[in-house]
Amino acid sequence: MTAYELLVSGLREFIPEVSPQAVDKLLRYSDLLLEKNKVMNLTAVTDPCEVVTRHFLDCASLAPYIKKGQTVLDVGTGAGFPGLPLAILCPGAEFTLLDAQCKRIDFLSEVVDALELTNVLPVHGRAEEFAAVHRTSFDLAVSRAVAELRMLCELALPMVKVGGAFYAMKAADCMDEVASASQAFAVLGAPSAELLRYTVPHDGVERVLVRLQKINETPDKYPRRFKKIQTDPL
Ligand code: SAH
Repeated sequence: MTAYELLVSGLREFIPEVSPQAVDKLLRYSDLLLEKNKVMNLTAVTDPCEVVTRHFLDCASLAPYIKKGQTVLDVGTGAGFPGLPLAILCPGAEFTLLDAQCKRIDFLSEVVDALELTNVLPVHGRAEEFAAVHRTSFDLAVSRAVAELRMLCELALPMVKVGGAFYAMKAADCMDEVASASQAFAVLGAPSAELLRYTVPHDGVERVLVRLQKINETPDKYPRRFKKIQTDPL
């Protein structure tokens, strides 16, 4: 199957109707990603079919949980995952893509311009610093492959509104990681984690969305400085 065929049939598993414009934008994003990847390190993937499965279809698993009008923060977006495919698939929601590496944010700004996306703001910054000015500002936070859960939720949950949620994309065998973060979840205002399992279409890999519904305010002292989060995780 071609990358186009994999994409169109795979997306159907998560989204009932995908516009031809969205498919076109995703494929152009893939071209820009693979082109830029020749001169800077953005992804280990080099084949367009793998961009579709390992990146786009994996990230599309979150699309059913994003509603029109919501604001979504992607913590440690890297080359745009999961936030950028989701922004293309959910044009009615507003996305902020945050990363500590300036070059990756520059690349994302180029993609946003090239694809004329109006619902995406790439931001260069560290989550624990961004949180100082954007506390309880987002309906949802999302994140993939950034840090262990108990550290990651200290980076993300302070920026989520009470009544909102944080979705961490994890490997299928993340149960120990989830268990060791239970104290962190409670302290930060999202005491119970739900595990939503899915299989990446065409890839067969099983993955998990860890959903943390924020029901209480995060105490003002969090997030702490990164060094502290790392050396003394909750
Ligand atoms: N989410 C992407 C990238 C994962 S690599 C994907 O799934 O492909 C991890 C990224 O997180 C890197 O780009 C790194 O710069 C960023 N990162 C790590 N800690 C961060 C922090 N505290 N604040 C913002 N970005 C961070």
